[in-house]
Amino acid sequence: MNRVLVTGGTGYLGTQLIAALLREGRPVRTTVRSLESEAQVREAVRRGGADDGDLEIVTAGLTADDGWAEATKGCEEVHHTASPMILSQDPDEVIVPARDGALRVLRAARDSGARRVVLTSSFAAIGYSPKPGAEYTEQDWTDPDTPGLAPYPRSKAIAERAAWDFHEREGGDTELVTVNPTFILGPALIAQVRSSLGLTKAMLDGTMSAAPRQRFGVADVRDVADLHIRAMAAPEAAGKRYLALADGPTISFLGMARILRDHLGPLAARVPTEEAPGTEPPHLIIHNDRAKSELHWSPRPAETTIVQTAESLRDLGLLDHQ
Ligand code: NAP
Repeated sequence: MNRVLVTGGTGYLGTQLIAALLREGRPVRTTVRSLESEAQVREAVRRGGADDGDLEIVTAGLTADDGWAEATKGCEEVHHTASPMILSQDPDEVIVPARDGALRVLRAARDSGARRVVLTSSFAAIGYSPKPGAEYTEQDWTDPDTPGLAPYPRSKAIAERAAWDFHEREGGDTELVTVNPTFILGPALIAQVRSSLGLTKAMLDGTMSAAPRQRFGVADVRDVADLHIRAMAAPEAAGKRYLALADGPTISFLGMARILRDHLGPLAARVPTEEAPGTEPPHLIIHNDRAKSELHWSPRPAETTIVQTAESLRDLGLLDHQ
């Protein structure tokens, strides 16, 4: 069977996606920056209930052309999850690799005759420019020049726009779909506090003394992986964006802390009980109807995801107090 490429094999999402594909019997190739992470990736994938025998691991970085032609060779399906998920304020560390890396993957996929690329974008590319009513669908775009926008959300808006522009002008026969998750939570397979897991750890360890005043949608990492697979398979998904988040209202960090406290007893004894001072953020309304109606996607409840994030950090020994 045709090998599927997943970029970002060390990632929180990447490892769940690789495991899901392998569990379906699909041979997978993944890219990592260095083969030093190979053993960790294989262990993560096995933790996800998959046999890593059909997993090939190759090297390619977002900031250089090396390795991308070999990585995409023979792959009809390319899932591009790799992108810097870091807090750096330096655009060269965040925006340049996100944008240029996406273009490298799209170019290599086109040149090797891939049928479709499914790119992990973000709600950050959709709803980070304020608008009256704060209600967002796939029709919305974050303006990268929105005042005060941090480099990470800028990187996602700029990279996704660059990807669609490339697709329209030079994409050839290779189709493009984007998956746009909100805040990703849920169990980790790789035993590292990566990406968005740091905030749950900070809550549980008690290093987050007050909950930041922010509202967000929760997307379960397993559901985002599942949406990637659905977005790759469905013919009608070509050329579309899909928001990924749980049903129900968006929540705050204080709301998340309450859920942890209600379900986890002593494990959640240190979660914040108060919000940081400041003004109440807009009550975001974010629609996930497209993924549900067109791709029959069925996300888990946010509460389940939040509780299982904490349990996963505990089970992997990643908390300071257990
Ligand atoms: P993650 O665990 O940090 O994974 C990011 C992946 O990108 C890692 O494999 C990382 O490799 C790779 N990467 C970063 N910079 C790279 C570079 N210069 N060259 C090659 N690879 C590079 O974060 P994640 O949460 O799984 O993120 C996966 C995707 O989901 C990203 O596109 C992210 O923007 C998107 N997303 C995440 C969230 C969220 O809340 N987590 C929400 C919406 C969208 P290394 O291990 O070598 O650094």
